[in-house]
Amino acid sequence: MKHIDLIIIGGGPIGIACGLEAQKKGIDYCIIEKGPITNSLYNYPLNMQFFSSSEKLEIDEIPFISNEAKPKRNEALEYYRRIVTSNDLNINLFEKVSAVSKKEDIFYVETDKDRYTSSYIIVATGFYDLPNTIDVPGEKLSKVSHYYKDPHFFAKQKLAVIGASNSAVDAALECYRKGAEVTMLIRGSEIGKRVKYWVRPDIENRIAEGSIKAFYNVVIKEILPEKINIQTPEGNFSIQNDYVLALTGYKPNFEFLKKIGIKLSDDQKLYPQYNKETMETNIKNLYLAGVICGGMDTHIWFIENSRIHAKTILKSITEKQLH
Ligand code: FAD
Repeated sequence: MKHIDLIIIGGGPIGIACGLEAQKKGIDYCIIEKGPITNSLYNYPLNMQFFSSSEKLEIDEIPFISNEAKPKRNEALEYYRRIVTSNDLNINLFEKVSAVSKKEDIFYVETDKDRYTSSYIIVATGFYDLPNTIDVPGEKLSKVSHYYKDPHFFAKQKLAVIGASNSAVDAALECYRKGAEVTMLIRGSEIGKRVKYWVRPDIENRIAEGSIKAFYNVVIKEILPEKINIQTPEGNFSIQNDYVLALTGYKPNFEFLKKIGIKLSDDQKLYPQYNKETMETNIKNLYLAGVICGGMDTHIWFIENSRIHAKTILKSITEKQLH
């Protein structure tokens, strides 16, 4: 079994920031990533534009130059990939960590390819792997997806978009502009409060003029191959439908965290337990970094405020090594 002093699970922006910091400190480390570099970003919608401006997505003050103030997905892939390749970071790609256990002071890490021991672990696994499901009959039909990639596919199709936050609004607007007949099915009474301020007037105006249909206070009852049955305060409706994008958010892999032994809060937020000064969890020498720290509140952490985790954690590890 190979020994690596520090194993970083997840090669997203924050896992990469941790690897870079470990390298600068001369620590033996490896990032283990189950997909390509920045797998979550890779799987974002093709035309996605960040809500953050590029300097807020920078790690270790390495300049991120983008065409517009807010970069596109492709520019972010370019930026983070170049950080990995130019710095020759140690990263194992397409290798999924399946289990982490600890005996005395040693961690045992199992992946689908290998087994390792390590002295320190950073879990930076993000939240984009598991969608929040709507749990209604028909959700598993092939016409239903929790991820949106590209609008071309939906041209001239009857598309229902479930949700009213950024992902749902972006998808609805893009698909409408490529010729889809879009209906938004919204659980609340309005478009989500966190929708980007420069996008909000666009969606509100498209709904007001009837270009995009919207139902509010909706309860989805059932998805059938050719329609969706919904309940609203105005009555029950059956909507003809070809495809469904259920863009109702994502959540961290809590089972993975629990299996490792990380304590989660008792409420519905499932906040993982960690020391805010060091990012160390209830398990000694095991740290959390990035958006995973927010539990079900996936909007609390983003790149701008979690990139600091890399320096915080590596400071804690180097101090421990000195003692
Ligand atoms: P991630 O980028 O999610 O990285 C986690 C990595 O861990 C993934 O690559 C995943 O494949 C890997 N992984 C998971 N489990 C395992 C395992 N068992 N073994 C090995 N690898 C594993 N944030 C912003 O700051 N600005 C924005 O504008 C912004 N826009 C967003 C738009 C969308 C549509 C979404 C969904 C999110 C957006 N975010 C934005 C949030 C953004 O996802 C995060 O800020 C950023 O990706 C967090 O980085 P991370 O490294 O913590 O997690």
